[in-house]
Amino acid sequence: MTWSRADLEQAAQGMRGTVLWDEPMSRHTSLRVGGPADLYLEPADLDDLELALARIRSAGIPYLVIGGGYNLLVRDGGIRGCVVSLKGLNTMEPLPGARLEVGAGVTNQALTRFAAQQCLGGVEFLSAIPGSFGGALTMNAGAHGGETMQRVELLTTLRDTGVLVRKRDELEYGYRFLRLEPGEIVLGARLRLDPVERRLIEENIQEYVTKRGGQRVGFPNAGSFFKNPPGESAWRLIDEAGLRGWMIGGAQVSEVHTNFLVNKGGATAADLLTLAELIKLRVQESSGVELEEEVRIVGEG
Ligand SMILES: Cc1cc2nc3c(=O)[nH]c(=O)nc-3n(C[C@H](O)[C@H](O)[C@H](O)COP(=O)(O)OP(=O)(O)OC[C@H]3O[C@@H](n4cnc5c(N)ncnc54)[C@H](O)[C@@H]3O)c2cc1C
Repeated sequence: MTWSRADLEQAAQGMRGTVLWDEPMSRHTSLRVGGPADLYLEPADLDDLELALARIRSAGIPYLVIGGGYNLLVRDGGIRGCVVSLKGLNTMEPLPGARLEVGAGVTNQALTRFAAQQCLGGVEFLSAIPGSFGGALTMNAGAHGGETMQRVELLTTLRDTGVLVRKRDELEYGYRFLRLEPGEIVLGARLRLDPVERRLIEENIQEYVTKRGGQRVGFPNAGSFFKNPPGESAWRLIDEAGLRGWMIGGAQVSEVHTNFLVNKGGATAADLLTLAELIKLRVQESSGVELEEEVRIVGEG
């Protein structure tokens, strides 16, 4: 199906949230690269999202849902169609039995603070991971031995057939992976946590934040660029391939953490992608291991 600018205008009509045209994605990604999205929407709430989405889907407009853009590399040609940010779905509600209902647009930092206030432990590791809770669910983000899906009791998503609520054992997930249908949107989840003294939760958070402080790379980045291959560390393989500090244009293999690719200033997505290809090639030559990107790469070249 072909769609036009008029279809995009129709999709954004009457929305209560933010509507931006030809919006540079470099403003919405932690790598600070990426060309424009034809239309960028931040629906005010679920009703606003459903209104826009019904029109987007019926006109056959492609769309990409994003969280904080901390794991996203948008190519320099930008994104045709519509980018939808779920920042507006930012509600959190405590439920009986040490449970929390959390919207996809809540930041991980707000979630960990709220859980601590409720004396609920088990998601402190998320304080070390930048981004939205929806992004953490979609990526099954993890750190310090914790993984987001471990604490999920129910996952709520939106498909073109409507809202779907599934128990964790009905989901397929793994290391930095959750199986979703194309176009399926994560709306939030119900978490089951542990009643814990607030002081202990805050000590855990402080410990994780302190550990992370030592890993700061000082330039825009998207965290680990490649997944760790089974039984290996991507950073070690890249280091052993002699690529620490290697640069292409404004993109560099971080001197501090070799699995972080950084934007030293003025990098393009093409610089980062060329550097990533070089890393894959050199690591394959030096160790025989094929690295796979953890960062999601989208948009037009
Ligand atoms: C300094 C730094 C440190 C990091 N450390 C870690 C770490 O320790 N562990 C770790 O796992 N990650 C880490 N990351 C990566 C990143 O923080 C996580 O992957 C995070 O969960 C991404 O969340 P986000 O909201 O920014 O998602 P985005 O980057 O916006 O999106 C990621 C992917 O999920 C999709 N998506 C996002 N939200 C939804 C939704 N609601 N429905 C459907 N699809 C959606 C997007 O389309 C995209 O494909 C780090 C990143 C940085 C910059």
